Amino acid sequence: MKAEFVEAIPIIEQLNEHGHEAYFVGGSVRDLLLNRKIGDIDIATSAKPDEIQKIFPKTIDVGVQHGTVIVLHNGKPYEVTTFRTEGEYEEYRRPKYVRFVSSLQEDLKRRDFTINALAMDKNGRILDYVNGMEDLENRMIRTVGDPYERFSEDALRMLRALRFVSQLSFRLEEKTMQAITVWHKLLQNISIERITAEFEKLLAGASANDAIQLLTLTNVYQHMPGLKQKKEQLNKLLSYPMHNLCEREEYWTVLLFVLETDDGESFMRNWKLPRRVIKKVCRHLELLNCLFEKDWTAFLLYKTGLEDALQLERIRQVLQKEKNEEAIQKLQKSYEQLPIHSRKELAVTGNDILNIVPKKPGKWVEEYLTLVEQQVVNGLIENNSGKIKEWLKNCNQKLGESC
Ligand code: ATP
Ligand code: MG
Repeated sequence: MKAEFVEAIPIIEQLNEHGHEAYFVGGSVRDLLLNRKIGDIDIATSAKPDEIQKIFPKTIDVGVQHGTVIVLHNGKPYEVTTFRTEGEYEEYRRPKYVRFVSSLQEDLKRRDFTINALAMDKNGRILDYVNGMEDLENRMIRTVGDPYERFSEDALRMLRALRFVSQLSFRLEEKTMQAITVWHKLLQNISIERITAEFEKLLAGASANDAIQLLTLTNVYQHMPGLKQKKEQLNKLLSYPMHNLCEREEYWTVLLFVLETDDGESFMRNWKLPRRVIKKVCRHLELLNCLFEKDWTAFLLYKTGLEDALQLERIRQVLQKEKNEEAIQKLQKSYEQLPIHSRKELAVTGNDILNIVPKKPGKWVEEYLTLVEQQVVNGLIENNSGKIKEWLKNCNQKLGESC
């Protein structure tokens, strides 16, 4: 068993000592069997939330009414959830209440896909009531039970199916796909926050292109903000090597660029992206045009900053369908070699300029500072206050011409 699970065995043992069943469940068991990086380790137990809270000294109440308690063990958080089924589903969304049940089997049957409905005991034995192992071996996404029923209970599962296609590079089982094609409209009932969370995982998966193709084939894309009229452009996205991108801002920038969206800011606001992400993507889109025109200049690199410049370079390469690790390393080196990295490092200040140039304070000071910055960054003047002042004096006489 992998260390992540071994570390969590004492939680299961303590629950057992108090007479409760407990198992590892969900995504972590799936990822263990697929030899993928293990995310959060979830535990399902017959203990009720108040019993879990009594057994463990450090717990966080995250959703006791849904049966979930976070147990802190050796400083790490583990979600411990009471075996449950879900109550009536309302409006094709997650149910308002849950019903605690006594058996693991019932708990596993309410889960979305067979590969997510596997459990493992503390000895590493797999418990499989839904043929999840077979689907795992055949690399197949299939709902637990009838897909029409399962998607009408919670429509988000349709988008989750596509995001697992992307993340795991699995195929969608035929009936599961048919049901999505029929039920896609139910996604209207799902909150944008849940859609965005799944869509971002879809974009960042290793097989994002397969999933995007399925988005259009099943018509799911029609229920995502700003995509309804963009089928053709979405299909264009398939030819870009999106898997070479790293950060969420990079995916959104490529998406917006390829979709030829007029108003990127409102597009992203409709997806309820955080303001800082929206700001960065808008800036990336603006700078992309500079980059396509004249490649990296020292000043563009300086103004952009290293982190954003690396993001932009990855975006540029994806949009130009190339992969050039060397160019990324070269950019990093060029940045390190810039004479200065911010205005704070400049050897003169606005006050120095006012002392040299006999004019009243005004907007021009900022313009002069930018000029000096450009000269220094481009290596045309040394970043030395004497040299800069001398240059400023000469320059002031010529200003208005070409300085
Ligand atoms: P990830 O690696 O992205 O965390 P995951 O499989 O752990 O993948 P989660 O969203 O963390 O996905 O959900 C944990 C588990 O809860 C799933 O594996 C699945 O068993 C169950 N689950 C999550 N969402 C749903 C849903 N909408 N309907 C039914 N079961 C769900
Ligand atoms: Mg998870």
